[in-house]
Amino acid sequence: MVRTTPDEVLTGGTVLTMDSKTPFATAIALAGGRILAVGTDAEIKALAGAGTKHTQLHGRHIMPGLIESHTHALWGACRDLFDVYTGYSASLTELLQATGKRAANLPAGSTVHGGPWRHEMRSEMGQCPRILLDKISREHPIVLFDTSQHVAWANTFAIKQAGLGGIPDDIKGGVIERSEDGSASGIFAESAIEGLKALTVHTEAQMAEAAREFTRYFNGLGFTAFKEPMAFEPELRAYHAADQRGEMTLHAAAHIVKAGVSAERVSYDELERLRKSYRSENLRTDFAKLFVDGVAPSFTASFSEPYLASAGYDVAGHMPDATLLISPEEHAEMMIELDRRGFTVKMHAVGDNAISKGLDAIAAARRTNGMSGLRHEIAHASFIADADVARFRALDAIAELSPKLWAPNAATPSQIKVLGAQRLEKIYRLKDLHAAKAEMTYASDWPASAPDANPWTGLAGMLTRRDVTGQFAGTVAPSQAISLAEALPLFTTNGARSLKMETETGSLTAGKWADFITLPKPLSEMTPEEIGACTPLQTRWKGRVVYEG
Ligand SMILES: [Zn+2]
Repeated sequence: MVRTTPDEVLTGGTVLTMDSKTPFATAIALAGGRILAVGTDAEIKALAGAGTKHTQLHGRHIMPGLIESHTHALWGACRDLFDVYTGYSASLTELLQATGKRAANLPAGSTVHGGPWRHEMRSEMGQCPRILLDKISREHPIVLFDTSQHVAWANTFAIKQAGLGGIPDDIKGGVIERSEDGSASGIFAESAIEGLKALTVHTEAQMAEAAREFTRYFNGLGFTAFKEPMAFEPELRAYHAADQRGEMTLHAAAHIVKAGVSAERVSYDELERLRKSYRSENLRTDFAKLFVDGVAPSFTASFSEPYLASAGYDVAGHMPDATLLISPEEHAEMMIELDRRGFTVKMHAVGDNAISKGLDAIAAARRTNGMSGLRHEIAHASFIADADVARFRALDAIAELSPKLWAPNAATPSQIKVLGAQRLEKIYRLKDLHAAKAEMTYASDWPASAPDANPWTGLAGMLTRRDVTGQFAGTVAPSQAISLAEALPLFTTNGARSLKMETETGSLTAGKWADFITLPKPLSEMTPEEIGACTPLQTRWKGRVVYEG
C-alpha cells in the first residue's frame, strides 16, 4: 500500500534486493531517505506524484550498499593522512625518506610519527640511533615504532619533550637503551615508551579530518555501514563528533574494548559510561571487544598443534593455552555479564584453540542467560577446528572473517613458514561454514592486516581463492571457495544483522534506509577479475548521493 508520494523514483535498471520475497526488480521508489517500494517500472512509475524526481538508470544495476564488519577506520585514515607509514618490507632508507618528507610538510613542533622499523635494521641505525633522526629534524619531535608497536625510536627533541632528556631515571617495566654517558640512545621499549606515545596522540582537528577521509574512502568503495572493532574513548569521541556534525555518511557500530592485549580490564561502569556518552543517531555503542589470543607470525595465536620447529618454535614446550590472553574462567564470566548487559561481543581469535575457547564462552552465556538474541562474534575466525564448525549455528554466533587473506597475499609465505602448508588448507573455511549454515560476515581488518579496505578484491578472493589482481600467484585453500550467491549475504544482510540493523539496512526492502550502490552491470555478469576491479558509479546512504564516480 502506498503510504506517501516518493521524493524520487529510479527506473529502467536492474535491482538486486537481497530480499528473498522480491529478489529482483527494475525500479525503486524513495521517500524521506527510505525505500518506499521496489518493483517493475510500471509499478514504481505509478507511485510518482507531481513533485517526484525521475531518475533514468539506463540499464545500470542497483544493489544494497556494502557492510564492512571489522575496520579500524580512524586508525587507517590517520595513518594515511598524518603518519609515516612505509609498510612491512620497506628499507631503512625508505623509512627515513618518508619521515623527512612528513617533517617537511609539518610545522616545527608538530610530532612526526609512524613506522614501522624492524629489528634487523638495528645495526644500520648506529650506536646512538637518535642521531640519525636528529639529522632529519631537530625542530620536530620524531617517534618511529617498530613492527610490534612495543619499541620506539626517537630523536633528541622528542626524548626531551617526553621528559627523558639528560640522564633519565630507569622506568619500571620499561627499557631505556643508553649511550656510554648514560643518556638515552633513542631506543625505548615497553612502559618506557609511554611518554613518547603521548607525543603521538592525534589532535581533535586531525581526528575530524580523518573521519571525513575514511567516510570519503568507504563511500567511494560502496560501503554504507561499518563496524569499528577496537574502540577506546578517543575513537568513540571522534566517531560521535563526526556523526553529530553530519559528516559520517555511514551507519557505524563501535566495539568498546573490555579486555585488550594487556592484563588491564575496563570496568563495567566505565563500559556503561562510554556506551551512554557516545551513542548517536548513526553510531551504535552496545558492542564490546575482547582479545582471546594474538597473531601467528609472532607465535602468539593459540593453536592446539605446535607451530613448525623449522620456524624456530619450541615444539616440545608447546602449550595451547599458554597464548590465551584471558583464562577460560574469566572469559566465561565476562561473556555472561556482557551478554546480560546487552553488549554484543566481538572476540579476537585466530588460532583453533582460541576460537574453541571463544565458542565455549558463548556457550556459557547461553547456558546462563538463554538465547539472548545477541549474536556474539568470533573475529578473524582464521583456523576453525573440525568439531567447532557446527557450533557457530548451534550457538547463534557469527564467524566474522578477516583480514581478507583468503587469496594469496604478501603474508601467505610467512603464514606457511610458521604453520605449514597443510594447516593453510583449512584457513578461512567459508565453504564448510556455509554448509554448516553458520552466519558469516565479511571484513578487511584494514589497516591492521590488510593494505586497503577494498571489498571487491575481498569478494573476488572468496569466489576463486586466487589473487584476481594477478600480483600473487597460486591459491589459498581453493576447496573453501564459495559462489557469488553464497558470498553476497556476508557483505549485506549478514553484516546488517551483526550491526543489529537488520530492520534498517542490508537489503532493498520497503521501509529500510535507501542504502544502495549503482554498478554498470550485475556482479553475476562479471568475471572474478571484473569483480575485483569493480568500483561503484554511485553510492547512496539514506537516499543521499554520498559518492559519485
Ligand atoms: Zn583488527
